[in-house]
Amino acid sequence: MCGIVGFTGGRQAAPVLIDGLKRLEYRGYDSAGIAVADGGKIGVAKVKGYVKNLAELTHDGADIPGTMGVGHTRWATHGVPNDINAHPHLSCDGRFAVVHNGIIENYAQLREELTRQGYEFVSETDTEVIAHLLESVYAGDAKKAVMKAFSRLKGSYAIGILCTDGSGRIFAVREAGPLIIGLGVGENYFASDVSALVQHTKNVIYMEDGQFAELTPEDVTIFDSFGRPVERKVSRVTWDVEAAEKGGYEHFMLKEIMEQPATFKATVEPRVVDGEVVFENFSLTDEELHGINHIVITACGSAGYAGQVGRYVIEELCRMPVSVELASELRYRNPIIGEHTLLIVISQSGETADTIAAMRECKLRGARTLAIVNVVGSTISKLADNVIYTWAGPEIAVATTKGYTTQVAVLDMLAIYLAKRLGTIDGARYSHLVEELLGMPAKIQRALDLNKNIEELAESLSYHNDIYFIGRNLDYAVCLEGALKLKEISYIFAEAYAAGELKHGTIALVEEDSLVVAIACYEPLFEKTMSNIEEVKARGAKVLAVALEDNKKIFTKADEYLMVPRCEPIFTPIAEIIPLQLFAYYVARANGCDIDKPKNLAKSVTVE
Ligand code: GLU
Repeated sequence: MCGIVGFTGGRQAAPVLIDGLKRLEYRGYDSAGIAVADGGKIGVAKVKGYVKNLAELTHDGADIPGTMGVGHTRWATHGVPNDINAHPHLSCDGRFAVVHNGIIENYAQLREELTRQGYEFVSETDTEVIAHLLESVYAGDAKKAVMKAFSRLKGSYAIGILCTDGSGRIFAVREAGPLIIGLGVGENYFASDVSALVQHTKNVIYMEDGQFAELTPEDVTIFDSFGRPVERKVSRVTWDVEAAEKGGYEHFMLKEIMEQPATFKATVEPRVVDGEVVFENFSLTDEELHGINHIVITACGSAGYAGQVGRYVIEELCRMPVSVELASELRYRNPIIGEHTLLIVISQSGETADTIAAMRECKLRGARTLAIVNVVGSTISKLADNVIYTWAGPEIAVATTKGYTTQVAVLDMLAIYLAKRLGTIDGARYSHLVEELLGMPAKIQRALDLNKNIEELAESLSYHNDIYFIGRNLDYAVCLEGALKLKEISYIFAEAYAAGELKHGTIALVEEDSLVVAIACYEPLFEKTMSNIEEVKARGAKVLAVALEDNKKIFTKADEYLMVPRCEPIFTPIAEIIPLQLFAYYVARANGCDIDKPKNLAKSVTVE
């Protein structure tokens, strides 16, 4: 999720590593560290906070001798951000130092196994299992140990390994986490992205999943997971540093939109074990759960709109009343909330001031609290009785995209999980839904692929001054987020309306050439939405439909359309929002807006 770097060569490693980490800072992180081998010993420096602090601590690396090492910027997923949890992590014998981005899904099982063998853990991270695992399988050959350890790990990760066996080798391991090798003269490097490499070399190797690399100052060898050398494909980097930071995309927002298949997967997959949804440390007992008679979701902005999707899904599966409350209103409303209320609090940063205040108020009234946040150790995560983290990684663009879809992912999982515990779902439907949820990353990818022509379409519609979004049921929940995305980054007045409400007032605004975005994926109410489309068309509006790709009927009625792959109906919002994110992005781009930092907006709203 954040950044790793590695270096082996003839000069002092620590300054090179620190410089590399500085160039990865834009990715977002909460702590930083390096480990450098000097003879048979490994020197480590790591701190909570900025790379600047690490540089101060080590006098820009000058204090740490040695010519090969690894470095890391951490975005905590397992264990709060602090000095101990910061990477690198060492094996007990001090032979291996490990840096890791991503998540080791089977870390709990490995930790138990290694603890039984006598290995002592000092951190709360999933990463530390890798260091002890390496020590436990080491029999004199570091490469073999890396291969063996690799075969035991499940999850999505990029790992850097330093070994003091005197051979001058460092290792890089990749499984669904970004990792690139840089080829220098008399020195070699690895890093999470090219921005940390381009000042040294333009010759790189993009590692593939299931591969590991052995780097010496003179040579780099890439192996498959069985340890067989594979052909090295050397590419020439043509990006400048700024483009490299964005992975070649023009804006962070577009990069983050494209990351959604991966972030959704990272959030869902580790929590499905043998076909069952499992939330670690979920403390509500069956008795407490059966005592809950009302679920209140509170949040602000997009998190609140994720909550709107959650409301439909939880009510549908759990047959429990759910209300979604704006945190800024709830905190001052003298709400009817007590010990039979489960309060679900959603915030990407975990620091949203209004949401914290609403949460405090409801806690005082006895509500049980469950937080859905992206930042480990944030205020909301600390206040909550239970936390389920979204594993979206740091989001740089102010307008959320992957943050939102991972929040919906957690709400969907939670709905399935609670339904099972409450006995409101049968086994077949439960298994079906778990299966379908695991299939959603492919559907998100399909939604991205289906809307390749969106750029041109968005440009042609970007002159509109006001745009109406209409839909029913789950489609309405998505309208809210679709309209907000457009407002936030393009500054076009956009508003979402439940399609059935249109004729109770808003239709008065619809006139010749008004643009109406009609979401019509929710099939039980498709005909009703079609009638609303007819109504606005009769008043001269232009209709941009968002519909399931196999729905021929709508394409004859709409002026333009965006397509959504067919999914399990209750999960369709996850695919539906994708074309709307892209639409907002390209409209804003056509209008020359500052997409990643829209005017007047802040990423984390820490004031009331
Ligand atoms: N899961 C690891 C941790 O929490 C690595 C997080 C990262 O990608 O930085 O320490």
